Amino acid sequence: MQLVVLSSGMLSVLFRVPALFILLNLLTAPLRLAAQSSDAYLTRIPDPKRLGETYVSNPDGILAAATVAELNTTLRALDQSGRAHIDVVVAQSIGEAVPKTAATALFNRWKIGDPTKNNGLLMLLVMDQRRVEFETGYGLEADVPDVVCYRIQQRYMVPALRAGQPDEAVRQGVAALIRQLGTGSFEEEAASGVTLGLTEDTAEAGSTDAELYPEAPTSSPLLPVFGTLLIGLAALVLYSTLWYRTTQGHPHREALALVILLPFGLILLAFFSTGGLNGWLLLVVAYLLPGAYLWAYFRRVGRTLIQQYAGRSRHAQYTYLRQAHHGLGFAPYVFPLPLVWYWARHQQQLQALRETPYSCPSCSRPMRRLGEDEEDAFLQAGEQVEEKLRSVDHDVWHCDACQHTLKLNYPDPGTEAQPCPACHYRTLLDAGRQVVTHATYEAGGWGWDMTRCRHCGHEQKTRFTTPRLTRSSSGGSSFSSGSSSSSGGSWSSSSGGSSGGGGAGSSW
Ligand SMILES: [Zn+2]
Ligand SMILES: [Zn+2]
Repeated sequence: MQLVVLSSGMLSVLFRVPALFILLNLLTAPLRLAAQSSDAYLTRIPDPKRLGETYVSNPDGILAAATVAELNTTLRALDQSGRAHIDVVVAQSIGEAVPKTAATALFNRWKIGDPTKNNGLLMLLVMDQRRVEFETGYGLEADVPDVVCYRIQQRYMVPALRAGQPDEAVRQGVAALIRQLGTGSFEEEAASGVTLGLTEDTAEAGSTDAELYPEAPTSSPLLPVFGTLLIGLAALVLYSTLWYRTTQGHPHREALALVILLPFGLILLAFFSTGGLNGWLLLVVAYLLPGAYLWAYFRRVGRTLIQQYAGRSRHAQYTYLRQAHHGLGFAPYVFPLPLVWYWARHQQQLQALRETPYSCPSCSRPMRRLGEDEEDAFLQAGEQVEEKLRSVDHDVWHCDACQHTLKLNYPDPGTEAQPCPACHYRTLLDAGRQVVTHATYEAGGWGWDMTRCRHCGHEQKTRFTTPRLTRSSSGGSSFSSGSSSSSGGSWSSSSGGSSGGGGAGSSW
């Protein structure tokens, strides 16, 4: 401890002697000229560890000596606590090198951080390229995810850098990182619940590529990445279901898919351009818009019923309504506010259309609907098969006074049974596949898709073909192995900390 204090004291003395400082600068000038070549910066920028027990590399004297001393004290305490090892590098130039590449290279060359914890972080400022990069070790990626690196840069460093105050930028950036490491939040005030949720969720979602984030300041309230993705997925399912269920039989079905997916595309665009989403926007596009669409759809169904089915039978009205609402039974659960009442009324309407007793056409007395056991006597064999397959439900109304009967058929909109071309009952069902020739490496195969009528036994064949088999390079398995390169990133942690490629960069 004494030794540390001593060396720190010596250093501040060193930096406070201007003559010595200028002399050092002059001595390193030829080196700086040599730095024009591609990765000469690797040797030109000194490893802070070699400068004694320090954490700041300031080869061009851009930071004030006082700042360097203060940072060293702070970062040494952080290092000794075992939480993290942060090195700060402020360079005038790294030539033509890309700052992100340079940060990774310096990180791995200096092996920043504890070798077992991999808790290193490199903050690199390249003044002539106006760029700040954070490079994090594997061990810190959960505590300081890329999106947090980016936000710290945007909120605490970029404004000061734009104002020409690199000292302030580095001081603020380091302070924010230490807050993040200590409390899980880089905010200055006591971490609010929202912010905590955000950092936890972004950590869960894993590292997101910082290059995706634009340079715009992100001050709008953003939802956690993980939550946004979940909501986005749910919205996609909702949109596709709505399209599929509400456009059956529509002449421009495919075009409607585009219209309904347009807002979703916009959401994706907004998501990838800001690295998160405004919660209100997401609420509108993922929930309110589909809800409004569904409401409009039901209104249109109601109008169609009034305009086109007004003079038609109860049976026709019932069939239309049921078909139009098929597969949308989830709607009142997802959008209870407008639809619970609507759905209850819809069910009542269906019931009234189907179950209100008909009056007998010959004697005008009310007829009686027969139960399942009674009605079979009035149904033909094919109709009985339909009932058994549940493809069509038959109602038989009977006048007990004059024996008049009325038969009404109600096809199930969800049935898989097709009308049989021979007997015309809805009793044609899938009967499996018959392979005639198996596919080989030389030629494709073919066979029949079979359907069979469960009433008259009529069989129908549709020819299908299978593609020729392809040999994969790994042999045997028919699954092609594809390219298995998982984007570099060595996992070996040699003698010191290694970078996980994590971090983020910002320009100013
Ligand atoms: Zn009658
Ligand atoms: Zn048939």
